[in-house]
Amino acid sequence: MRRTGRDTRAARATSGATKDGRREPSRRPPASKPGPPAAEQALAPGLYLVATPIGNLGDVTLRALDVLRGVDRIFCEDTRVTARLLARYGIVTRLGIYHDHNAEEARPAILAALRRGERVALVSDAGTPLVSDPGFKLVRAAIAEGLPVTAAPGPSAALTALILSGLPSDAFFFAGFLPPREMARRRALERWKTLDATIVVFEGASRLADSLADMADVLGDRSAAVARELTKLHEEIRRGPLAELARHYREAGPPRGEAVIVVGPPEASQPSDAEIDGRLRAALAELGVRDAAAKIAVETGLGRSELYRRALAIRGEKE
Ligand code: SAM
Repeated sequence: MRRTGRDTRAARATSGATKDGRREPSRRPPASKPGPPAAEQALAPGLYLVATPIGNLGDVTLRALDVLRGVDRIFCEDTRVTARLLARYGIVTRLGIYHDHNAEEARPAILAALRRGERVALVSDAGTPLVSDPGFKLVRAAIAEGLPVTAAPGPSAALTALILSGLPSDAFFFAGFLPPREMARRRALERWKTLDATIVVFEGASRLADSLADMADVLGDRSAAVARELTKLHEEIRRGPLAELARHYREAGPPRGEAVIVVGPPEASQPSDAEIDGRLRAALAELGVRDAAAKIAVETGLGRSELYRRALAIRGEKE
């Protein structure tokens, strides 16, 4: 590896001590600050987790490109995939491989490079590394040794599908890939059934119809969306109840590409008649019939005209 004054300084920071033996106050690579463009600044040593596009090569951040250009080595799952991205942006950084099948051997070598004060990027074939992709054990080991770890965030299929689904996005549960076998899949769905959150899972095309049918069966026929080919020419978001989506993919056959399934939270249970009347009575203590009905309609999602009729009847009782 090239050694420059900058690298020596960086390596010292990595060892955690300054020349006079004091600990460095912070060993994280610096977050972006106002000043010269990132490309002109030297990258601090450390492990950079860099998100890459999930289909459209234009979806890479300026900072991701600076990091990929500035590190000593990029570890990726498949050099052909990452080389395409680098070629598009004229980046010639050396590539190494880190995937599920070589991680045990590659990890010690990457950690050793980090200890020497090198700058290493980790990318996956698409999206954010570690999100159903390799990297967690490497990050955990680097953290355990006090080696600097930072991220250049960017695309992820899970978040992209969630925000396009039209389903509640305030609370969501990302479960990675659904178990491929039916029994295990249904057991997992049983565990998630009572979560008051939108559920986001990855699924391959060939199992899409079966998984949607199991979801409809175990979770109930909730509102859902299937997002495919995100950010690509044939991007498709199909929205509807789970059973209808299952029927569609059963009849149409497995679609092209992989997909993300997004399932809405369980419907809030309908309030009882007594509960509705109680709410209306409380509202009528302060509001007219029309406003009271409108208020309870917003709170319960029930129809205004029915609530208006009930509110009129309650007012009539009093007179
Ligand atoms: N780390 C990636 C991320 O952050 O998006 C996910 C990697 S995981 C191995 C691959 C899965 O992500 C696919 O099976 C699919 O469910 C989903 N995925 C990735 N790219 C996608 C795209 N363009 N459209 C829809 N789903 C996609």
